[in-house]
Amino acid sequence: MHAPSLPDRSIEAYATVTDGDRLERLQSLAETLDGVRVLHVNSTATGGGVAELLRSIVPVCVDLGVDTDWLVVDADDEFFEVTKAIHNGLQGSGAELTEAMKATYRDVTERNATEIEDEYDVVVLHDPQPLGTIDRLENAMPNATFVWRCHIDLTAPAAEHLAFVSEYAKRVDRAVFSRAAYRGEIDVPSASVVHPSIDPLAEKNRSLDEGTVAAERDRLDPLSFDAPVVAQVSRFDPWKDQFGTLEAYRRAREAVPDLQLALAGGMAGDDPEGMELYERVAREAVGDPNVHVLTDLPDATVNVLQRESDVVVQKSLREGFGLVVSEALWKRTPVVGSDVGGIPLQVEDGENGYLVAPNDVSGASDGVVALIEDERLRTTFGANGREHVRERFLLPRQLADLLEVFVEALELDG
Ligand code: UDP
Repeated sequence: MHAPSLPDRSIEAYATVTDGDRLERLQSLAETLDGVRVLHVNSTATGGGVAELLRSIVPVCVDLGVDTDWLVVDADDEFFEVTKAIHNGLQGSGAELTEAMKATYRDVTERNATEIEDEYDVVVLHDPQPLGTIDRLENAMPNATFVWRCHIDLTAPAAEHLAFVSEYAKRVDRAVFSRAAYRGEIDVPSASVVHPSIDPLAEKNRSLDEGTVAAERDRLDPLSFDAPVVAQVSRFDPWKDQFGTLEAYRRAREAVPDLQLALAGGMAGDDPEGMELYERVAREAVGDPNVHVLTDLPDATVNVLQRESDVVVQKSLREGFGLVVSEALWKRTPVVGSDVGGIPLQVEDGENGYLVAPNDVSGASDGVVALIEDERLRTTFGANGREHVRERFLLPRQLADLLEVFVEALELDG
């Protein structure tokens, strides 16, 4: 296990983006949790939504006075191939889980659990990767409350993968899902729902001065914002359907000949499939100078890409939540997204973007064209998107929901 380095965050800074009642509620929950030690465990310090959430939530908790640590599992590719198969299986289609794969999972989670030296009152295990640590931790910390924060949609899992994960999940004290429906059939003692959020003060989401925007636009050259741009920002992952986005772009280009497509994606440390998919997407894009496949962009560049694009697309086939949707809406960029997972919580069809069925390439293309061709519509949708995210998907709201779960689980008087 290792502890990632964290940025500085102060709760007071959020007063510029959220209302005072919410901040007061947070302070009061933090007081209730005075003296409680919290540990978050996940499987990567960078890349993907969970790392993104923890990078902000952990330092804000510390600033609020809640004693909070974050540890990341140490493992090699063999383990992450197993956990990616589990992740895919929980979403409906993953490689078979052999006895050898299960043994790898048990060995690595056991070894990582032995490296946790301190004792905690609340241990939050994020997603299936660190869940197996409970085997050892429930004995090492008999008084701790275990929370499984599941960011995955469990509504249509493969039975074999669900059965494997359930053996661990049923032993936590409480599970937390991103939507009520996600709990599916899994056997957990009790469940809460907490919608994720973005951090409006993070480099990726904060407002930028003109000079920075200009410099980042230059960095993205030959992509040019002087002509229409549609972008998708996602890990290279089959569920994110970059090929569907490419096809939607090709159709949209028939109506908008100078349209450009930016497909920006990173490789998360716990996702061994990424490189292969990236190479396939890059090969598919070769020959079209208006398609830009971009990797490992710094956060300020992602910020500018989401901010300056005319439309953001999120054509996922399954999606736990899809932080990238709120990230774009917060920057006043309308989103054409699939009607799956957490996307419909964020995209309000005809208000801040368009929702299309996950396989509806021509619907996605029509949505893109409608927005590219109508600047006033983009401005209206952009303003609506900003307010929708301000109300529901900023960090102080999520953090208050999470701290409430801790207060309830510990049966403290909040
Ligand atoms: N991300 C990034 N650079 C990339 C691709 C993704 O910084 O090239 C970030 C993205 O901005 C978002 C997170 O990774 O903050 C992805 O979270 P999301 O919930 O959308 O999807 P996940 O990867 O967790 O399935």
